[in-house]
Amino acid sequence: MGNLKEYEKIVGKDVLAEIQTKVKKLRHKHIVSISSTYQGGGVAEILNSIVILFNRAGLDFGWRILHGSHDFFKITKKFHNALQGQKIHLTQKKKNIYYETNKRFSEFTHIGTYHDLVVVHDPQPLPMIDFYKKKQPWIFRCHIDLSQPNLEVWNYLKKFIKKYDHFIVTKENYKKKLRIPQLVMRPAIDPLSIKNRQVSDRTITKYLSGHDIKQDKPIISQISRFDRWKDHTGTIRIFESVRKKVNCQLVLLGSFASDDPEGQKIYGQIKKKVEKSNYKKDIKLLLLHSDILVNCLQRASAVVFQKSLKEGFGLTVSEALYKGTPVVASNVGGIPLQIINGMNGFIHEPKDFKGFVASTIKLLKDENLRTQLGKRGKEYVRDNFLITRLMLDWLNLFGVYLAKK
Ligand code: UDP
Repeated sequence: MGNLKEYEKIVGKDVLAEIQTKVKKLRHKHIVSISSTYQGGGVAEILNSIVILFNRAGLDFGWRILHGSHDFFKITKKFHNALQGQKIHLTQKKKNIYYETNKRFSEFTHIGTYHDLVVVHDPQPLPMIDFYKKKQPWIFRCHIDLSQPNLEVWNYLKKFIKKYDHFIVTKENYKKKLRIPQLVMRPAIDPLSIKNRQVSDRTITKYLSGHDIKQDKPIISQISRFDRWKDHTGTIRIFESVRKKVNCQLVLLGSFASDDPEGQKIYGQIKKKVEKSNYKKDIKLLLLHSDILVNCLQRASAVVFQKSLKEGFGLTVSEALYKGTPVVASNVGGIPLQIINGMNGFIHEPKDFKGFVASTIKLLKDENLRTQLGKRGKEYVRDNFLITRLMLDWLNLFGVYLAKK
């Protein structure tokens, strides 16, 4: 991650000046964010950059991570799945573990009068608000695809959300019937993080060969946590059809997040599917967390896939587009905010396997098309999904509550 000054070259002086002006109005204000993991997934990705950048800009901005047991995270993952539409057996026991973990965490989190504003990310730490005498605005930022939630879980969680001052979602159709103000805020990527900054061809070759990925035939990749919603097995099916027609390879790079206990099981299922594939020699399944490898792989790929079934936003799409790589992805959640079909990639309904295959083959066979779409993708992300824009969105909201007039 660069110093703020370095972002000027990418987004221009005015954006940086605007950030500085807005931060000045928040001088001596102390803001704290709470989430449930420091690594793995989009929320951690964003916080890892934005917390540092806010502090470098002069805003006193902290980040705390909820501590929870394996059982707790099993329950919150079930909530997450239910909010994305799955069934759940919502027992009193689950509610108790969820609530008691938050109670315990609140005791050593020590939010006090010296905090001027609290931002809570996603449902894991949501009930924290119950355990304080609220002395400042509390904002709840939910990153999940809330378009068709399981109503039992939604109604249970709504009881906590109602106590917040503001509810933030990623997309207009994730908003809910609530009395508190709601706002749409789109996520963003950090163009100077290790994951996204420019790297040389030599570095790309070094990291790919270091993980035994050859560049002798076109690479299709999907970079995702091992999670049912990312539909890795669908990705493999599409690849197999593409591979029948074009000589290419598939790289599935993924890792686990500490707040997602389902990862191991899903990884096992994907591994089995790869082993059974007629094209297993052309499929590489990598389980590791490496930002630089993500960067190199997204750059080296001819096509990046994001075959999700649900997707709050899908930072991986912007990450690939920003590197000039066209993306073929599902028309779900936040993905159509990033891919304009035919302009910077292709989107298909998740069940439209034929469409996925056709678009991928089209791209693999036409380098000019890849270059054209890649160029537009990069511009589109630069104009819409860079972290400085997200900083301004947050500063605007903080300003509503805290700025000195
Ligand atoms: N990611 C990573 N290594 C992996 C898998 C994912 O660094 O092996 C990163 C990915 O680059 C992106 C984030 O995790 O920055 C995933 O965010 P996204 O919004 O795409 O999905 P989420 O995991 O939050 O559902």
